Amino acid sequence: MRKAFEYLLIGQGLAGTSLAVHLQDLGASVAVMDDGRDQSSSRVAAGLYNPVTGRKMVKTWMADLLFPYLVDYYKRMEKLTGKEFLHERPIYRPFISVEEQNEWMGKSASPEFASFVEDVYQKKNIAGVQDPFGGVLLKQSGFLNIPAYLDAMQDYFRQQDTFIKETFRPEKLELTSEEAQYGEIRAKKVIFCEGTFGAANTFFDWLPFRPVKGELLEVTMDTTFPAIINRGVFVLEIRKEVFRTGSTYDNHHPDWLPSDKGRAQILEKLEQLLDNRPEVLRHYAGVRPATADRRPIAGWHPEHRTIGLFNGLGTKGVTLSPWFGKHLAGHFHEEKPLLGDVNISRYFSLY
Ligand SMILES: Cc1cc2nc3c(=O)[nH]c(=O)nc-3n(C[C@H](O)[C@H](O)[C@H](O)COP(=O)(O)OP(=O)(O)OC[C@H]3O[C@@H](n4cnc5c(N)ncnc54)[C@H](O)[C@@H]3O)c2cc1C
Repeated sequence: MRKAFEYLLIGQGLAGTSLAVHLQDLGASVAVMDDGRDQSSSRVAAGLYNPVTGRKMVKTWMADLLFPYLVDYYKRMEKLTGKEFLHERPIYRPFISVEEQNEWMGKSASPEFASFVEDVYQKKNIAGVQDPFGGVLLKQSGFLNIPAYLDAMQDYFRQQDTFIKETFRPEKLELTSEEAQYGEIRAKKVIFCEGTFGAANTFFDWLPFRPVKGELLEVTMDTTFPAIINRGVFVLEIRKEVFRTGSTYDNHHPDWLPSDKGRAQILEKLEQLLDNRPEVLRHYAGVRPATADRRPIAGWHPEHRTIGLFNGLGTKGVTLSPWFGKHLAGHFHEEKPLLGDVNISRYFSLY
């Protein structure tokens, strides 16, 4: 393996993978280091991308830019690796009242929502779903099989001989104003993309990370749906009669373990959403790398200009990582300005 690179990226989750690809697009030489932790957010996540979210059903931040780009990006990666991982699929959200139905009849025609709404149904539409008032069918949505994507990209980096399976230890890093030395590897810049684990990195532990635990179930039911169903919980068919469902949100979690409370919460919401009673096959948990203002944090370290960060993808890594990987590559490699909402400089006063 070569020993000198322009960039050494630490972490090959959604953040590190996209940044590596986009830096390479600009002609940079990039090495990626990852230690393959099973419980990384990217390995646990459901993988949904959904342009209209939340209890109040608002358009996702920057949706008009992020959604078209993510489809182009993941399809390009499918072509590059010869593997399939992007599944474009509509999301159906049942209404709970006539008022909500009326609200969506109006909203669906507005320029703000038109490109994300496939149809609005005013009466029961999907068998097995509790939707007496109909629902809204969203488009530009679906899910990414994240482990398949990350594995395919890791194989691609390995073929280039630029992947290092190792745990990065900050105390081993030697910095000068010109470059960084890590063992035998020399790099002009080191960019940390460590997700939730990055909160313990001594270069960035002053940032306001606010990790959010999430739990998911894999269940079996003797049914099928023409869309991902989403109200309170999502129900995503991953293979015949097997569905992924969740997730919970817990800001005060004591651990990373699946809990009885989390399982009960998901099953209760499923009961309100579906006619079927599912049988649980698997229960798992992870912790999302969220931040105080729910925006990514990215840019150069305030003191060490050889060190950068791409973190804080929170609940939406599948949606955010493609466009922001490109945006950040432009900033790191071509000194293009960074969007203020994600710029690490908004927190420099905490350093
Ligand atoms: C239950 C749950 C459900 C979710 N559902 C969705 C969803 O449906 N849609 C969506 O978009 N997002 C979802 N998310 C959020 C999504 O998983 C995250 O936004 C995203 O995966 C974060 O990616 P990341 O690359 O920043 O971090 P991570 O995925 O944590 O990746 C960091 C990588 O860095 C490696 N690493 C860390 N430290 C070191 C070190 N010192 N040395 C070497 N390697 C290191 C880790 O092994 C890991 O591979 C969910 C998260 C959870 C927990």
